[in-house]
Amino acid sequence: MVSVCGAMNYKISHQAAALSPSLTLAIDSKAKQMKAEGKDVVGFGAGEPDFDTPQHIKDAAAKALADGFTKYTPAAGIPELRQAIADKHKRENGLSYKPSQIIVSCGGKHSCFNVIFATCEKGDEVIIPAPYWLSYPEMVKMASATPVIVETSDRTEFKITPEALRRAITSKTRLLVLNSPSNPTGSVYSPDEIKAIGDICVEKNVLIMSDEIYEHLLYDGVTVRSVASFSPAHYEHTIVVHGFAKAWSMTGWRLGWCAAPEPIAKAIDAVQSHSTSNPTSFAQKGAVAALTGPQDHLPKWLAEFNKRRTFAWQKLNTISGISCVNAKGAFYLFPNISRTGLKSTEFCARLLEAEQVAAVPGIAFGADDYIRLSYATSMASIEKGLERIERFCKRLI
Ligand SMILES: *Cc1c(COP(=O)(O)O)cnc(C)c1O
Repeated sequence: MVSVCGAMNYKISHQAAALSPSLTLAIDSKAKQMKAEGKDVVGFGAGEPDFDTPQHIKDAAAKALADGFTKYTPAAGIPELRQAIADKHKRENGLSYKPSQIIVSCGGKHSCFNVIFATCEKGDEVIIPAPYWLSYPEMVKMASATPVIVETSDRTEFKITPEALRRAITSKTRLLVLNSPSNPTGSVYSPDEIKAIGDICVEKNVLIMSDEIYEHLLYDGVTVRSVASFSPAHYEHTIVVHGFAKAWSMTGWRLGWCAAPEPIAKAIDAVQSHSTSNPTSFAQKGAVAALTGPQDHLPKWLAEFNKRRTFAWQKLNTISGISCVNAKGAFYLFPNISRTGLKSTEFCARLLEAEQVAAVPGIAFGADDYIRLSYATSMASIEKGLERIERFCKRLI
C-alpha cells in the first residue's frame, strides 16, 4: 500500500498559483450540498438555462453516435459545422468569414482562453471592464499578460464609456474584452455605443475580443450589432466569441467557437491541436442541427425569461436597501446592495445561512457592492427567494 507521506514541497507554476478558483462554481456546489442535506434552498446561482436542449439537437447527436461518428475530427471542428457557423454570421450579423476563420472549441470558455492565449503575452495589457465574467482576468494571467480592470457602475448601466476606455489605453494595450449582453449584469450596448468603443480600438490599434454568447437573449425590443460589422477595419480588429451553451441550452455539451482574422485563427488552430484537439465528434453533429434546424424554442424561452425578469426586477426595487437597474439581455439581474451596509461576500454568506438563498457575491465579478441573481430558475423559486431576501434585508436595516 503506497500513500502520501506529506514531505513533498511542490512547486506550483506562477501561471497556476496566480489563479483564484471559480467562486460561482463554489457557491453552486455549497447550495447543492445543502439541498442534498434536505434543506429548502432557493438557488439564484445558475449560470445556465433551466430548459432542456431541444430534442432535434439531441437526436442529431444520438444518430451520429449510433452511426459510429466517434473518431477524431479536424482539431478546429468538422467542415460542416464551421460552414454552418460561417453561414450564421453572414445571415445574422452581415459578417463574411471563410470556414478556415472559424475555430470550434470545447465551450465558449475554451474559445476565450484560446483567443487570449494566442494574442497576449508577458508585457501586454488587456482591458476588462468590471463587472466582468470572472474567468477573463484569470485567463489573462494564464497568458502571463496583465489584466487592466476599468470599473463601471449602475449609473452607466455597467457600460464602459469612450472616455474611460481612452484613459485606460496605453502603449502596452493589446486587447479589450467586450461582453454584450453581459454576464453578470445583463446590460447591452446599443449599436451606437458599441461603434464608439470599436472606433477607439481601431484608432489605437487595440484588438477586441467580443464575447457575444448571449446575442439571442434580448428583451424590451433592444437590438445588438457585432462590433466587427461596422467597417473592414473593425472586422480586422475583432475576434468574435460565441457558443451553443446559452441560446440552445447546451452547457454540458462543451461547444463554442471563435471567428477571427485568418492569422489569428491559424494560431488558435495550432494551440488547440496541441492541447485539447477536436471538441467531441458527435456533439459537433448536434451543433450543426442547432444552427441549421428550427429555432422555435427560442421565443418560448425568451417569453418565460422575460416574465421572470420583469417580476424579479420590480420586486427587487421594492426591497429596502436594494436597487436594481433592469437587464436588457442574458438571464441575470445585478442588484446594488450597498445601502444594506454589507459587502457582497458577507451579504451572500449570511443570506445563505439565514434564509437558505444562494446568490453570487459581486466581488467575484469585480463589483463588491452588488450581487448576481440568475433567473434561470422557476417562477415559484424566484417568488420564494425574493420574499426571503426581503425578510433578510428588513432585519439588516
Ligand atoms: C456561459 C458563458 C460563456 C461560455 O460558456 P461555455 O459553457 O464554455 O460555452 C462565455 N462567456 C460568458 C460571458 C458566459 O456567460
